[in-house]
Amino acid sequence: MRISRIDTRYHVIDGDTAVDIATASNGRFAPDGFDIYERWAELTEWASTLPGDAYRPFDPDRLRAPVALPRQVFGIGLNYRDHAAESNLAEPDAPLVFTKFPTCITGPTATVTLPSDHVDWEVELVAVIGKRADHVAEDRGWDHIAGLTVGQDLSERKVQLAGPAPQFGLGKSFPGFGPTGPAVVSLDEIADPGNLEIGCSLGDEVLQKGNTSDLIFSVPELIARLSAICPLLPGDIIFTGTPAGVGGTRTPPRFLPRGATLVSYVEGLGELRNPLV
Ligand code: ZN
Repeated sequence: MRISRIDTRYHVIDGDTAVDIATASNGRFAPDGFDIYERWAELTEWASTLPGDAYRPFDPDRLRAPVALPRQVFGIGLNYRDHAAESNLAEPDAPLVFTKFPTCITGPTATVTLPSDHVDWEVELVAVIGKRADHVAEDRGWDHIAGLTVGQDLSERKVQLAGPAPQFGLGKSFPGFGPTGPAVVSLDEIADPGNLEIGCSLGDEVLQKGNTSDLIFSVPELIARLSAICPLLPGDIIFTGTPAGVGGTRTPPRFLPRGATLVSYVEGLGELRNPLV
């Protein structure tokens, strides 16, 4: 099952067609908010009964973030071996956790306004919480995930690295700094979340190309580590880290240009296409 928001309403997606969930369920599920994530198993069962002729074509430019305003947005730093190496930093022995404030979240085709000439790219696998997680063991971690999607953890490096110690939150939270989508893909559609190609590009130029097999802390391990401290709520999202190839650690450093479109993908989950202005 693939779930997206079209304008402000949740839809089940099949290729280039979609079903409005609240309308087709006669109001059993709410059109927006956290209801569908809180009742993910029930939604999955209902969606499997939808007839093929219920689906209608839709305009992809009307896709919005799969979760409009998550209550919590977690980011994980240095979670790919190749990215830790390019950053000249040791692999962490516990996840490095920061927040992106929820107002930065935007959709898969949204135009992103660059606030400066120091905005870097970080394509990421994003986990979306279904069932509330509180002190969950790693071997039960997947039970609390509704599905996976694609994200860009855009980062203003000057703000992020200013001052005597880096402070990640603000530098990663300008409006538009959290493109996500195009859909939350349920786990039954993903053969092996630990072996997915992930990358991003500008035009013909590949900026990042990695694989989730290079993750240091897997998605279920992150659920265990995070939920040991913060309860995770339905609709919360976790940016699980970026592979090698970011611009800030290059010689000389490189950042996103205005006028281009940043394309980001995870194998099997779809792609983001975000024009930069
Ligand atoms: Zn990141």
